[in-house]
Amino acid sequence: MARETKWPEDRWAWVEIDLEALRHNTQSLRRMIARDVQMMCVVKADAYGHGAVQCAKTMRRAGANQFAVATVTEGVELREAGIREPILILSQPPVETVQRIVEYDLMPALYDQDFALALGECAAAAGKVARYHLAIDTGMTRIGVNWRDVLEMRRGIHFHRGIECAGTFTHFATADVPRDWDFQMQARRFNEAVNALKDAGYHTGLVHCANTPATILHPEVHEDMCRVGIGLYGLHPAVETRREVHLKPVMSVRGRITRVERPEVGTGVSYGLTYRVPKPNIQICTVPIGYADGLSRTLSGNMDVLVNGERCRQVGRICMDQFMFEVSVNNVRAYRPTRAVEYGDVVTVLGSDGDEFISADDMAAKRDTINYEVVCDFGLRLEKVYV
Ligand SMILES: *Cc1c(COP(=O)(O)O)cnc(C)c1O
Repeated sequence: MARETKWPEDRWAWVEIDLEALRHNTQSLRRMIARDVQMMCVVKADAYGHGAVQCAKTMRRAGANQFAVATVTEGVELREAGIREPILILSQPPVETVQRIVEYDLMPALYDQDFALALGECAAAAGKVARYHLAIDTGMTRIGVNWRDVLEMRRGIHFHRGIECAGTFTHFATADVPRDWDFQMQARRFNEAVNALKDAGYHTGLVHCANTPATILHPEVHEDMCRVGIGLYGLHPAVETRREVHLKPVMSVRGRITRVERPEVGTGVSYGLTYRVPKPNIQICTVPIGYADGLSRTLSGNMDVLVNGERCRQVGRICMDQFMFEVSVNNVRAYRPTRAVEYGDVVTVLGSDGDEFISADDMAAKRDTINYEVVCDFGLRLEKVYV
């Protein structure tokens, strides 16, 4: 454990955010993008659980040109923290938000005529021009105008002086799959739609479609801007991207031991008493991190933690706010021979301690999910400590 570790006062549990690693990742990805291509850093969901404001400030210094968020509220948070770069809202928000969009100078994704006209009316009334990005559905079937209907859509909103197209984009469903036919199909449909707009004399603004895997694996689709997310946080979207760029994980999750017991053989641990102490000289230690902090209950009895550079086995059911783990003391036949731990020792749930490391990918595999969800979940309640 790093000696300079800091922790919050009110709870011995925290998320540690390594801003130096974040800077490294931002610069490494920036170097994969041509100088005249912009870099939009995706900081939705509080920067994938890492803290949007702090992360955006670090990314800005490391080469970010624009930011993207999921909601109007997330955009407003960045503006109020002094972020002046363009901010895209990645899907079209409810029409009730147009006032705030105009007031805070946010750019919504747009794919509905009623929304476009409401936005235009609102901006015009304020003496402004609202910028938007036209979202095109090229095959993912999530958001956007169907690629076949793009011209008709632009024709329907073109007359309005209160809105201006600052970008045209699509999103890939399979950019993380090498040599994928559906990816090629989406790229082709996107090109056709963009060319149709240009041929008809419409201004497209910045054309963009590349998420992290497309940015790393498909330089041919960088267009005018790349929208990178997960790679910034030091996590890979696919095994294939590992060969191409070295990234450093930004998030660690740590706590301190709040209680140490050495129970009699046969004593049960946690709800349901699903684990019972099997032999003498076992320490049962409590850490104040639970499933409400993003430590999924499905990991119960199926994960390790790191203490003093050694792996220890988590035991019993993970509770809402706490979990327990075991240490076998002075026992060479134990799961891991481990020296005794003490009240207050630092426990690593995610990240490294000494030579040992627990990655978001390890945890994702055990949870049957992806690294994206692991870090988003840890962002929910734990206090963040920036180092
Ligand atoms: C989340 C998101 C991204 C970023 O994706 P990563 O895989 O994290 O790089 C880019 N574009 C859109 C539309 C998104 O929703």
